[in-house]
Amino acid sequence: MEAVITLLPGDGIGPDVTQCALEVLDAVATRYDHRFTFDTQLIGGAAIDMEGDPLPAATIASCKGADAVLLGAVGGPKWSDPNAAVRPEQGLLKLRSVLGVFANIRPVKIYRELVGASPLRPEILRGVDMVVVRELTGGIYFGDKTRDETSASDLCTYTVSEVERIVRVAAKLATVRRGKLCSVDKANVLETSRLWRDVTDRLMPAEFPEIEVETLLVDAAAMHLLSRPADFDVIVTENMFGDILTDEASMLAGSLGMLPSASLGDTSTGLYEPIHGSAPDIAGKGIANPCAAIASAALALRHSLGLETEALAIESAIAAAIANGARTVDIATAGDSPVSTSEMTAEIIRGLQ
Ligand code: NAD
Repeated sequence: MEAVITLLPGDGIGPDVTQCALEVLDAVATRYDHRFTFDTQLIGGAAIDMEGDPLPAATIASCKGADAVLLGAVGGPKWSDPNAAVRPEQGLLKLRSVLGVFANIRPVKIYRELVGASPLRPEILRGVDMVVVRELTGGIYFGDKTRDETSASDLCTYTVSEVERIVRVAAKLATVRRGKLCSVDKANVLETSRLWRDVTDRLMPAEFPEIEVETLLVDAAAMHLLSRPADFDVIVTENMFGDILTDEASMLAGSLGMLPSASLGDTSTGLYEPIHGSAPDIAGKGIANPCAAIASAALALRHSLGLETEALAIESAIAAAIANGARTVDIATAGDSPVSTSEMTAEIIRGLQ
């Protein structure tokens, strides 16, 4: 097949790990006889430096015309002055809104060989394989805000259709996984959560009768994620709860450098990025873990290009590299000799052959 992929390397380690994803996609194209065309554009601090705008018009045009968008990371100390007129993160928020990507999908998979890199006990981590689906464009983060000398407020709003569309995304994922959905809310306190629960209770048996549904209050969910993480298949939740729970869930895998994400909307064009940031402390050292960016490329093949076999091939190659003992410094434990970003990538590409 032919596909156009926009690359947004961004800042810090973003360019390093995006280059790795590009090399892996090139290897996939050769092996499976596809033609991927890459269009590299500016975003974040790099775009501010070059164009004075964290999301230039050319970047928006390229992303809108692409089959998928691969992002590295944005931000860093150079652009973090709180009084700055423009900030790198504005580019990312605007991009999500321009692409209309309302569903943020974060798979959390534990590699058996890496259990030692997580702060949790190995027996708790055995069998963990979940996807957290976070609503990305509604809720308290986007509601009206007020502030005066003595008080402040943030309005949390959800509509029935916003809840329906995100629950459908999560339920469809559960259908092709282990058939279990956990909906997380705070229905004992919040009206938006009571709406969320009503919609889920009505929609799931009507449209997905085969899916086993569990409902958890967010405080209990935070506890169960640590006490019985292997029980979860697909978790769906609103914007702020998802923000917090996904960071908690990332610790199951031990390193931010392992976890990819996909942000999807109504069209097939999705935004794919590692969950980590620009890691200024290791930028330019050639030691960043490229696995999250490469796994994000696999998600792009699966969700935007419909290339499931190729996506699985990349995921298997990452697993094989780990099984063969390749470890970047963030996932190395005592006795390992860490490999560089490019060595890890080469090992993954070898696994594709
Ligand atoms: P971070 O994720 O960049 O780094 C946190 C820690 O994890 C650092 O010690 C870093 O070295 C390590 N780390 C992260 N990714 C790694 C990788 N692939 N391999 C090895 N180690 C890795 O978070 P931070 O330090 O809080 O933020 C740095 C900058 O990134 C800030 O400007 C922040 O705003 C930005 N940020 C951007 C995004 C994004 O672009 N989506 C997300 C989070 C943070």
